[in-house]
Amino acid sequence: MVRRLPEGQSGEKYRPLGGWVERPDDPQPQLEGDVGADVVVAGAGFAGLSTALELAARGAKVIVLEREFTGFGASGRNAGYLAGGQGLEYGLFLKRVGRERARKIVSFYDEGVDYVERKLGEYGIDCDYNASGIIRAGVHPSQERKLREGMRIGIELGSPAQFLDGAEMRARGIPPAFLFGCDTQRGGTLDPGKYVMGLRREALRAGVKIYENTALLSYDEGSTVRVQTARGSASAPFLVLATNAYTPQIGLLRNKVMPLRVSAIETESLSGAQLASLGWPRREGLVTPHWTMESHRLTARNTLVMTTKRLHYVYGSGTPNVPDHAAYRELAVALRDRFPNLRDLAIRSCWSGYISFAYDALPVVGETGGQRNVLYTAGCSGHGVGTQSLMGQLLAERICGTEHPLLAALRHKTPSTLPEPLQWCAVNSALGMANMMDDRVNRKVREAATR
Ligand SMILES: Cc1cc2nc3c(=O)[nH]c(=O)nc-3n(C[C@H](O)[C@H](O)[C@H](O)COP(=O)(O)OP(=O)(O)OC[C@H]3O[C@@H](n4cnc5c(N)ncnc54)[C@H](O)[C@@H]3O)c2cc1C
Repeated sequence: MVRRLPEGQSGEKYRPLGGWVERPDDPQPQLEGDVGADVVVAGAGFAGLSTALELAARGAKVIVLEREFTGFGASGRNAGYLAGGQGLEYGLFLKRVGRERARKIVSFYDEGVDYVERKLGEYGIDCDYNASGIIRAGVHPSQERKLREGMRIGIELGSPAQFLDGAEMRARGIPPAFLFGCDTQRGGTLDPGKYVMGLRREALRAGVKIYENTALLSYDEGSTVRVQTARGSASAPFLVLATNAYTPQIGLLRNKVMPLRVSAIETESLSGAQLASLGWPRREGLVTPHWTMESHRLTARNTLVMTTKRLHYVYGSGTPNVPDHAAYRELAVALRDRFPNLRDLAIRSCWSGYISFAYDALPVVGETGGQRNVLYTAGCSGHGVGTQSLMGQLLAERICGTEHPLLAALRHKTPSTLPEPLQWCAVNSALGMANMMDDRVNRKVREAATR
């Protein structure tokens, strides 16, 4: 579904469902009446579906409740970078958790990449995966120090990487705006819509019962957890909340995670001549070391997808499904800045979605309830493609009675968020500061280009 924007926004085409998925042709029924299972999962994104698949493989009867349809959340809207532990926000957690635990956490991110690569083969999901690796690429010499420092810490924490100087970047045919980079040598890019819909197909095939258009409204704890929906209820010895940025709305993790809106634009398909002029033969996913990064990638349909650059926090941790025109405009500026030869390339669509963010930028996973049988996973920030998929295995093992060492490593004290209106003020000040610093770098890049 493509909707034209009102006057003043001409050229922007807002897609309320993101750029990769449509409502499925085979919508799964809404839950009516009372049903029972071994495990009820709320949320049909990477986390919920991976958990359901891992549990089904262990012989469990699983029900998934999805408020909208599979892939409606961030899993159907992201940029499709399957990225590991290089380039994380180490500064936000290294001192808090200590080096030993940080090494294990970084390996969780790296193993998330291996996990998805393995599962794509196992489930036979074709999602245009390009195992090109991902390059953190600087656009101005002033970014080199920060990039090298992040790379050094990442390597120390066990995630390999290689610095690419200007000559190496040009030899690889990376577009010239990207001056130098850190090649993370792991992962690559995929079509997240095809990935999440592939998980859905596989879950249905494995006998998982998915109820779409079925929101979890509330739940009662106990040795059997009873979940209430609009027209029925579901009971099971375990409940998994895989509702990510929406979890605070269920009344959980309100003081641990907050939703941040991330936006994306996608161009029209590049012509053969435009692609040839671009070079970039391996199509590595690029991210910049700005304070709020930019991501730039080519898709299998030969479009350019760019994300982030501007993040947005909605007062009271709201998650309205609305356009973010200011973010789309900024992304369009980045498109012209980084790809001046493609100045005339039209923007085909724009969309936004919500990630869940903890103040230390780490995953928030654990259990609650008197019986410790209500499990949750959130907070993977902008790194959920690999991590929230692998989380499915960790949660399934935990439910079956084994604690994976990576799950043990992820258990840590998440800093508490601030109450409103302090949180709104603090987050917007921090984002505003980041934008100011990034804009300064971008101005310098433009000045250098016109000299
Ligand atoms: C624009 C954008 C770009 C991103 N780029 C990347 C990237 O390149 N690489 C990367 O690794 N990560 C990226 N991310 C982050 C990544 O997409 C997420 O971390 C990941 O998809 C989270 O998966 P999830 O299953 O935990 O949550 P979600 O995919 O958000 O799924 C949660 C589901 O729960 C459902 N739900 C909510 N409330 C209820 C309820 N009460 N009852 C039932 N269901 C409910 C929602 O409808 C939703 O479908 C990006 C995110 C965005 C928005």
